[in-house]
Amino acid sequence: MAISTKERMGIPLVHMPLNNPAQRVTNFEEVPIGYTLEQAQTEAKRCLQCKKPACVEGCPVGIDIPGFIALIEEGKPAEAAKKIRETNFLPAECGRVCPQDKQCQAPCVVGKKGDPVYIGGLERFAADWERSHGTYAPPPIPASTGKKVAVVGSGPAGLTAAYELRVRGHEVIVFEAFHRGGGVLVYGIPRFRLPLELIDEDIKLLENIGVQFAYDVIIGNALSLDDLLGKEGFDAVFIGSGAGLPKMLGIPGENSNGVYSANEYLTRIYLMQSMKFPRYSTPLYNGRKVAVIGAGNTGMDVLRTAKRLGSDVTCYYRRTRAEAPARTEELEHAEQEFLHWKWLHNPVEIIADENNFVKQIKCEVMKLSEPDESGRKKPIGTGEFVHDDADTVVFSLGCDVNPIIPTSDKEVRVNKWGIVMVDLATYQTSKKGVFAGGDAVTGGSTVILAMGQAKSAAQSIDKFLKGELNWNAPNVPTDPKAPGVQWSGRFMTAKR
Ligand SMILES: Cc1cc2nc3c(=O)[nH]c(=O)nc-3n(C[C@H](O)[C@H](O)[C@H](O)COP(=O)(O)OP(=O)(O)OC[C@H]3O[C@@H](n4cnc5c(N)ncnc54)[C@H](O)[C@@H]3O)c2cc1C
Ligand code: SF4
Repeated sequence: MAISTKERMGIPLVHMPLNNPAQRVTNFEEVPIGYTLEQAQTEAKRCLQCKKPACVEGCPVGIDIPGFIALIEEGKPAEAAKKIRETNFLPAECGRVCPQDKQCQAPCVVGKKGDPVYIGGLERFAADWERSHGTYAPPPIPASTGKKVAVVGSGPAGLTAAYELRVRGHEVIVFEAFHRGGGVLVYGIPRFRLPLELIDEDIKLLENIGVQFAYDVIIGNALSLDDLLGKEGFDAVFIGSGAGLPKMLGIPGENSNGVYSANEYLTRIYLMQSMKFPRYSTPLYNGRKVAVIGAGNTGMDVLRTAKRLGSDVTCYYRRTRAEAPARTEELEHAEQEFLHWKWLHNPVEIIADENNFVKQIKCEVMKLSEPDESGRKKPIGTGEFVHDDADTVVFSLGCDVNPIIPTSDKEVRVNKWGIVMVDLATYQTSKKGVFAGGDAVTGGSTVILAMGQAKSAAQSIDKFLKGELNWNAPNVPTDPKAPGVQWSGRFMTAKR
């Protein structure tokens, strides 16, 4: 029986069940439990099947959102997963970590009078159904084109580029500096948000269609871009090397024992498995009182990780909760987990003991003034200082682009922030045969944006390999202050 729009609008949001906070902070199990088929169908009924779906405009890879939601409502989750995979190779990952509240769910019409449709939860449900029921059908691979592409980096950008190039019949080898694939999905995003087996399974799907992986190879060190395009016989290169260069504040005491960047802290724990030390050989100095500086998504990940390792954990942020850059859902989940919050606190010094181990963090208390150029209210010092005890400090302030490729090859142009400059229409860099996408061309961004760019870049590489791309005219900015690629609705732009 057809359901009216009014009836659909009257259905309340189906909240995804979560593990209990007191119990979940004792382990690394995933926090959201996932929908049952019945719950997913009820949530799917809230979608109005808009003729001009605003949600699709908000999705960087243009998933047919009403299409897959209708299939869930009809009780066809396997078909829904297939529909998502037409445009998104990593649905289980995106359903879990995409900032839907800022992308597809933000413009959803249902959200104008209440909660938007929980598109992320439904995407996750369809992807999990496909995995648990084994309904995934590999794409057909056409006869070999005889062309060979090197992909640098195995994060979301590299994996997406590899998939898009392989399904067009090209030979693809992914070079990864670490000993396993996945990029930030493995070494940054915690297991309680994104289980490792999901990424491993998607890498297996790529291997099954013939994508090869070469681990422990640093391009720019073991092999140069010229080596790849010369003696190694590649016809094109895609750079998806990400943004893994940590930012620090430059305050006194940063070299004390017990100070980490978020990247080092999370990499030790998740990639090197130091949480299982001594079963795994990487140790971790994780104190009893951990101070985390920053309130973005990475900050939430560090806070919640430290809590799971048994520490007393405090977040320091120079603005208030309202300006915190973390996704709403991440902030809410963190707030449920018995952490301490020091809003309007700006760390100015880390104080160490006589053996150079951290013992305190000194902060200036801040207040907010008028909004700055970012649109957020500017924090200004009050002249009042506080000293808090801490034995570990983790800087979670975002990351800059990995510099190794541009510094090892001067033909690849970067701007003054180290961002790889590309032609916005084609993702060509200034070096012939070399394309780039993901965090390398945006600075630290999101999984789905990295994927969207990689997909566009792969389409250009395909044209280049077929001789359909004019190499003489890539519009790669020359101004060192030119911005990297930015997201604006459905389109990538160069606004900063
Ligand atoms: C802790 C943390 C949490 C995050 N949470 C979210 C989230 O919830 N949602 C979201 O959408 N985004 C999140 N992000 C951002 C998101 O993970 C990134 O935007 C995304 O992973 C970028 O993908 P990428 O493929 O460009 O780069 P990466 O994922 O960084 O992958 C780059 C890969 O290239 C490899 N590499 C680098 N240099 C070389 C070289 N010279 N040779 C060979 N290999 C090389 C690296 O080892 C790495 O594996 C988070 C980031 C962090 C750090
Ligand atoms: S905007 Fe919302 S209601 Fe409309 S199709 Fe998209 S998810 Fe459904």
